[in-house]
Amino acid sequence: MSSTLTLSTPLYTLSISSSYVPKLDRLQLSTVEDLLFHTPRKYLDYSRTLSITDTSDLETGQLITITGEVISKTQKPIRGKKLRIIEVTFADTTGQIKAIWFNQQFILKQAQEGTIMAVAGTLHRDGRTPSLRDAVLEPIKSNKSLLHTGRLVPEYATTKGVTSRFFRYHIASLLTSSRLQIDDYIPSHIREEYALEPLRSALRKIHFPNDNQEIKPAQYRLAFEEALLLQLSLLRQKLHLETFTATPLAFQEPEIKRFVSELPFELTDAQRKTAWEIIKDTETSLPMNRLLEGDVGSGKTIVATIALLNTALNGKQAAFMAPTEVLALQHFHRLLGLFHETSFIEVPKLAVITGSEARVSTEPELGHWTSVSRKDLVRQVENGNVHIIIGTHALISDYLRFFNLSFTLIDEQHRFGVNQRAKLQEKGMSLSPQAHTMPHLLSMTATPIPRTLALTVYGDLNVSRISERPPERKLPVTRAVTPDTREKAYAFVRSQIQNGEQAFIVCPQIEENEETGARSVFSEHARLQTNIFPEFRIAMLHGRMDREEKQEVITAFRNKAYDMLVTTTVIEVGIDLPEVNLMLIESAERFGLAQLHQLRGRIGRGGGKAYCLVFPSGKEQPERLQALEQTTDGFELAEYDLHYRGPGQFTGGTQSGYSTLRPEIFTDGDLLDKARSAARTIITEDPTLSRYSSLRTKLDRFRQTMHLE
Ligand code: ADP
Ligand code: MG
Repeated sequence: MSSTLTLSTPLYTLSISSSYVPKLDRLQLSTVEDLLFHTPRKYLDYSRTLSITDTSDLETGQLITITGEVISKTQKPIRGKKLRIIEVTFADTTGQIKAIWFNQQFILKQAQEGTIMAVAGTLHRDGRTPSLRDAVLEPIKSNKSLLHTGRLVPEYATTKGVTSRFFRYHIASLLTSSRLQIDDYIPSHIREEYALEPLRSALRKIHFPNDNQEIKPAQYRLAFEEALLLQLSLLRQKLHLETFTATPLAFQEPEIKRFVSELPFELTDAQRKTAWEIIKDTETSLPMNRLLEGDVGSGKTIVATIALLNTALNGKQAAFMAPTEVLALQHFHRLLGLFHETSFIEVPKLAVITGSEARVSTEPELGHWTSVSRKDLVRQVENGNVHIIIGTHALISDYLRFFNLSFTLIDEQHRFGVNQRAKLQEKGMSLSPQAHTMPHLLSMTATPIPRTLALTVYGDLNVSRISERPPERKLPVTRAVTPDTREKAYAFVRSQIQNGEQAFIVCPQIEENEETGARSVFSEHARLQTNIFPEFRIAMLHGRMDREEKQEVITAFRNKAYDMLVTTTVIEVGIDLPEVNLMLIESAERFGLAQLHQLRGRIGRGGGKAYCLVFPSGKEQPERLQALEQTTDGFELAEYDLHYRGPGQFTGGTQSGYSTLRPEIFTDGDLLDKARSAARTIITEDPTLSRYSSLRTKLDRFRQTMHLE
């Protein structure tokens, strides 16, 4: 007896040979749903079906399908080579045509003399005779429609041993099976309101479109549903968060004003405004979730420091997580410096914890700080002796418990996963029956997030933006250098270094790698030192050196024992060398614009006139680097990246679940707005989705594959 098939039916229960199961697993396909949602990468247009005689006046390169009887087949070796040429001749009532393959033995089996087959391939003209190349054969069966020929033929992402032909066959059998029962989990009134294709027909059209017109509505439906699921999931999360309260942190006005007035510089208007937004948010018992955006060097840290200080002045603890040890230590020492310059009687006690360091602040007469044992630090955090705890991922270790964590700050937030961010929040959560509490959260990033992307990934996140830079922190002059101007660029670099300047040379990788062909730290160091600048002292800095080695190089470079430092993007965050005014970036095509923009923000920080020379190799689109030359607006550059390189660099790259989503849900503002309002309609009607059980099931599965759990 045949049972029904649903989206959750496992593939191994179907008539798919068991040897395929592990292979499909590799493509993360294990259920009927996975298979049906394995949508084509592209289509080959074999829909032009001709009689053989009509092929005689076609140009080489046309894709066509003919139908003919196999009348003969041969194979012959090519002289001196292992290759074999296989030829099959087909005939219909109008004529004959040959199809030719190289080395594809299986064709001889497929093409049985006397059978009628559809033949789809590329027309090739040799003098006057047309023939077919790379042809695909499909037997004609009276009751079956064609899958591999004679239509728009879907092509899929494949893996060893699982071909597009496999997918076509099995997807078509599912879609035409009377046993397949697909509930459309999008409620029908939503489908009507937004003119969405029903699920079953969307799937049929995306895999086997009858013409090009059928593809768009199917794609739209599938993108809409992804956007809808994300928004539903964000909305439900928001409802959940609203059951929590945060500790209100009163604005400690006199002390904060004094701190600000004693800073060694004036805050910019943008800094004042964003600091104010944060203070306002944290004054309430609604947990803040705010993102602070600002270019490298726009002065985010000082804004965040005001909030940290205000938390400590309220007698509560704050945690500040940074992605690297260097950065964490740097924040610790900067904060120490700032706090000790103020005239407070009682300065908040600071600590820093990383994989290998544990330090706490001390009285200035004791030298400002001291190293302590990890155990000692943990104790001081736990008993509330320390107010502001800075650290790397070490902050979210299980052994660290807080006394009254009420504010969390995450620097370079895109470098952390969703789970790591959540874990830091949990350090300050209480789930007592009396009250669900959690800390206020501020995240910082220098990579401006385009609006559409923020909607997709965060829903309604509050954003503060530092849009101006401190006056003395101008961006470097940026120039793209082509191969024929490289000489001139080096002459300029030479003259600058002779005047006492120093330069960073940034390469995308440490070692040569034949596949990418990009420049590397090792080879570039050798090349510059021997061939280009033998008179200068050139050092290397990269992630494979241990911490001490790195520190030694940085110190020597700071003391001007070197003129140039060849390095990877390790300098992107946290290496504080404000006097360097020159940067050369090699193989620039390997970097996103937002990243190039961050990199150039590392120079000229001491107020000197700075230059960033960007060297693309080969395939770069010139207009991309022009954007970098012409605009200093990180926001514009991020938009550019989003459209030209996709959302990867904003969402954590290919490891994150987001990489499996359709790209338009990150860029199509109209689609997103509609999906958001559809999600709101559904949640308002039915917050727990009890009436929409298939939608709820789908949403749970979606959250799992997206790692949103
Ligand atoms: P980012 O936004 O990249 O984290 P930082 O907060 O590290 O920037 O600030 C970069 C540098 O600019 C720091 O040395 C900081 O002391 C300095 N700075 C911050 N705000 C101002 C300002 N308003 N005027 C002058 N310098 C400032
Ligand atoms: Mg910073």
